[in-house]
Amino acid sequence: MKTLVLGHIHPDTDTTCSAIAYAWYLNNRKNRPAEAVMAGEPNKETAFVLSHFQLPAPRQISSVTAEDSIVIVDTNNPEELLPGHAEAQIVEVIDHHKLAGGLRTTQPPTITMRPVACTATLLLQIMGNDASTLPKEIAGIMAAAIISDTLLFTSPTTTEEDKKAVDVLAKQAGIEPGALADEMFAAKSDLTGLSLDDILTVDSKVIAIGEKRIRISVLETTAPAQAVVMRADLEKRMRERKVEENLDSAFFFVVDILKSEAILIVPSETEKQMAGQAFEQPFTGETLVLPGVISRKKQILPRLEPVISGFSELKSTVASNK
Ligand code: MN
Ligand code: MN
Repeated sequence: MKTLVLGHIHPDTDTTCSAIAYAWYLNNRKNRPAEAVMAGEPNKETAFVLSHFQLPAPRQISSVTAEDSIVIVDTNNPEELLPGHAEAQIVEVIDHHKLAGGLRTTQPPTITMRPVACTATLLLQIMGNDASTLPKEIAGIMAAAIISDTLLFTSPTTTEEDKKAVDVLAKQAGIEPGALADEMFAAKSDLTGLSLDDILTVDSKVIAIGEKRIRISVLETTAPAQAVVMRADLEKRMRERKVEENLDSAFFFVVDILKSEAILIVPSETEKQMAGQAFEQPFTGETLVLPGVISRKKQILPRLEPVISGFSELKSTVASNK
């Protein structure tokens, strides 16, 4: 049976390229028939990377079943997996995010999780000596994945292992990381043709904090003004989505890659108060500028999560006093 290698919904460059690279490895070095698939359309950066290295986008699927044997890459969060994942045979998980909880398997899985910046870094380590036989285009997309997840090593998630991996992969692919990064960031900053929903979900995760469901969206760009100018429309759409998706709160961080800062847009006063507390900066204007904040994993979540759980306690106290 063919194993499906699958990443998260709202697919990014790491989740897509790591699925392709690991499927290549299983097929060509492990004698295990595998196919990379993806849980949605490639975003503009990913589409650029695939066409740059002349690789087709993986087949898109919208659910999995009990018949499917799957390797999950770049997430362990059930909120980010396709419908049917709970029934599917999850044989392996390769990821670099914190444990979200809730993932169940039908058999003991192989799990590789380490605190590096990118799944592709872990793949290179898993491949060991076989990595020296990677085709140029597979080495190229793996380097691109690490460049994407580390924002060319500027993200605080970056480790020495990620830098070393790009060094090895770039040599093998015959590419210059800085030049590739420039083209990738230009591709991802182009918002032409994107709807409000597209912009809000280019990179978006739902996080469960206690009973609360929070959507945290990030848009990494070299041209933040293109998104910030749409603030009023984005806020309105976020308010609608909160109802549609039964969310407790929603946050949209426009990350300025060049200035290394985030510009926060929120749908209501509640999120303004939460963000003000979390980042210890009053949110009184239309947006909140957060110097140095570029990583959801290292900087945004660790600050927001405790404040949001505190908020829920406050609310329930008020409710029980009624
Ligand atoms: Mn990802
Ligand atoms: Mn990743």
